[in-house]
Amino acid sequence: MSAGIFDKYATLKGNYDSLMATSPRNPFGVVIERPLSATVGIIEGRETLLFGTNNYLGLSQSTTAQDAAIHTAKTMGVGTTGSRIANGTFGLHQKLEKALATVFRKKHAMVFSTGYQANLGTISALVNKDDILFLDADSHASIYDGARLSGAQVIRFRHNDPADLEKRVARTDKTTGARLIIAEGIYSMTGNIAPLKDFVEVKKRHNIPLMVDEAHSFGVLGDHGRGVAEMQGCEDDIDFIVGTFSKSLGTVGGYCVTDHDEIDLMRLCSRPYMFTASLPPEIIAATLAALEEVKNRPELRQKLQENAARLHQGFKSVGLNTSNFISPVIAVTLEDIPQAITFWNALLDAGVYVNLSLPPATPDNRPLLRCSVMAAHSATEIDRAVETFGTIAKELKIV
Ligand code: PMP
Repeated sequence: MSAGIFDKYATLKGNYDSLMATSPRNPFGVVIERPLSATVGIIEGRETLLFGTNNYLGLSQSTTAQDAAIHTAKTMGVGTTGSRIANGTFGLHQKLEKALATVFRKKHAMVFSTGYQANLGTISALVNKDDILFLDADSHASIYDGARLSGAQVIRFRHNDPADLEKRVARTDKTTGARLIIAEGIYSMTGNIAPLKDFVEVKKRHNIPLMVDEAHSFGVLGDHGRGVAEMQGCEDDIDFIVGTFSKSLGTVGGYCVTDHDEIDLMRLCSRPYMFTASLPPEIIAATLAALEEVKNRPELRQKLQENAARLHQGFKSVGLNTSNFISPVIAVTLEDIPQAITFWNALLDAGVYVNLSLPPATPDNRPLLRCSVMAAHSATEIDRAVETFGTIAKELKIV
């Protein structure tokens, strides 16, 4: 007899059942009934402080982006109903691609319908089954999925470790296929920042292109907000920068920027670009407006850095275990899963929402509470979150 379609869920169901036996609510089913502002939303009928979003600059609530979206929806409609390579390229898509290329000071840009698809579409356009990909071990799922879609051989190097990358790359110097190195700017779970300048040294020594996903660092780091590559002064040596609109820009969509002139050929061999509908015009208009804000309001980045430092210092002052990087993503690492579940529920009961991240989705297989800060948070909101963390940590005898 053949297996039932859901038989393979047995392990997942066991894990889910034991999670629900210890957690009064489903941590992966939280509903923000209504956002009241960038920093406060209604959850379970109560006003809750949001410390677990990717809305780093608060721009999901930008009035200029809202106005642009409304005006564009009214004048152009709410969707394109087609692929970028058929009826789904409007003038606005090209305008956004030009704007992105200008912001990044690269020759070309390609816009995708999500950041996830930007990674899938870029990676699968660049490498195939004859090629080798070098991936940071802690790469985002979209990078791993892009690798899988491409069929390329994957060689993982130790997280943020240029020496380990160098060793693994050197072993493949005589390969006949093409090679590509991929890293991220800020890592989404831990807030760790990549040593891109050192990766550039490796890429130059071995003459391999380097792709960097600046999803969490665009708008956040660098004098102009162009990310970790700008901050470390190595932008000109990054061949492909990939990113998303769904974090600091507050909308949805993704992109790849590059100086390589083959971009129009990439469009023709990137299935996640070709076989899906393009972004709706109102989203493009809102994204263009948000991009202007990133350019014209450097004070948002300044405030974000101050807030990141305040939250980081606050967590250290109450004795919590966090990384030493000061970035807008701060992970509080905990010892075991039941402790993490109890801590997360207590935070939500006290009106503070963060992300619960459980193994195997976490580095080192340790559970963590992923917190993120925004430019829009007030000092009072940050201090309240820290105090709540401190009180619960004491009650649970973690500190
Ligand atoms: N890259 C990284 C590093 C991410 O963290 C994410 C989303 N969390 C993505 C890509 C995908 O972006 P999106 O959610 O906009 O599809």
